Amino acid sequence: MTFRPVALLVLLVAALLGCASPGPSPQPDGAEPTDVRAEHAPQLLLVSIDGFRWDFLERTETPHLDRLAEVGVRARRLIPSFPSKTFPNHYTLVTGLYPGHHGLVANNMWDPEFSALYTLGRRDEVANGRWYGGEPIWVAAERRGLRTSPYFWPGSVAEIGGLRPTWVDPYDGDVPNRARIDLVLDRLALDPARRASFATLYFSLIDDAAHRYDPDRAPEVAAAIRTADDLVGYLLEGLERRGLAGSDETSGAPGIDLILVSDHGMAANAPERAILLDRLVDIETANVIDWNPVAAFWPAPEAVEQIYAALHGAHPHLSVYRREEIPDRFHYRDHQRIPPILGIADEGWVVTTSQELENNPGRFPGGSHGYDNELISMGALFLAAGPSFRSGAVVEPLRNVHVYELMCHILGLPPTANDGDLAAVRHLLRSAP
Ligand code: AMP
Ligand code: ZN
Ligand code: ZN
Repeated sequence: MTFRPVALLVLLVAALLGCASPGPSPQPDGAEPTDVRAEHAPQLLLVSIDGFRWDFLERTETPHLDRLAEVGVRARRLIPSFPSKTFPNHYTLVTGLYPGHHGLVANNMWDPEFSALYTLGRRDEVANGRWYGGEPIWVAAERRGLRTSPYFWPGSVAEIGGLRPTWVDPYDGDVPNRARIDLVLDRLALDPARRASFATLYFSLIDDAAHRYDPDRAPEVAAAIRTADDLVGYLLEGLERRGLAGSDETSGAPGIDLILVSDHGMAANAPERAILLDRLVDIETANVIDWNPVAAFWPAPEAVEQIYAALHGAHPHLSVYRREEIPDRFHYRDHQRIPPILGIADEGWVVTTSQELENNPGRFPGGSHGYDNELISMGALFLAAGPSFRSGAVVEPLRNVHVYELMCHILGLPPTANDGDLAAVRHLLRSAP
């Protein structure tokens, strides 16, 4: 078989383009290859409703979430990774790595190599790429020329692997939730050459309410769930208004892939379930970096055994481990930021001090999370709908380390080494990989 040189060149360019980015190969019809790819390039919107426990769907009326579940797929719950905290789990969702492997081991953490403290309020550190291990999905996407908008997602303001998202939005909890939706949907609805292929949204209203009020019973939590449901309605309507609704084939589902998750659940607290650390140990010497409900102790090396001896078995509802004894199932032992001594409160118990209680009368938390990730109460939400997903399916509980592989598959990105497995989520897909 012989090729004319120009045909050979076209094939070569087509092959290169096909390797370099996701989507179908260019058609041999003379159309601009980039147009063909862009028009068919998949789009994925990942939405997080912080603290939305899996069973909050049953607490009150949630018509929009129910509709989404009907046209898409719902997991009975999403099992978070340990510790069931916000930053560790959001970063697990986008890297497929356990917190003990990606390095965001807590919301507040000490790094002995950097001699530095990371907290959510330290903007400089939150924006510093040195804290973020693994490769978040937006980095792989940007490297392949896709545009990303991981709006307010933990880690999204930092340069990681030499790259930042196309759109970088420093966290501002005061931006109204509907304005967040409008902004991100507008980026998804831009023309094919400029639009976002991967975007995220983040809402904290449920987490806020369920820390303040009893997550199991408070009407304020039920009201927040209804507001979150309204936001989902606004989001679906916004997709439709921008021409991003589904075709007849995917009737009722969004026209782009939508994954709606939460990072963890919530367990109810009560003042009679307080662990007062000052009654157990000298707080100064113990050097407590993070408190509730997973306490991170960083005493000077020579004081570790003394502090461990004081804490171990000292309270019936606080499990205390040396780093190397932390249970295997937490995958939480190797990283330098994991403290030499870790205390994990039992479900519903709060780690605090007598002074803290005295200083804040009537402000005991309604609920907390961070506990053992296998607890049913720590279970999170997982709903997905769109062209890639099955319709009307309910599946067994999923672990959140697998969501990354699922998203890479949808976007046609080769996943980086991670703790998840596409085989664990292929049953969610309309056509199995
Ligand atoms: P947690 O302490 O685990 O309940 O964390 C939830 C809180 O994290 C929210 O109420 C927000 O205030 C905060 N938060 C969420 N996303 C971000 C972000 N990207 N940057 C800084 N803070 C955030
Ligand atoms: Zn959270
Ligand atoms: Zn929270």
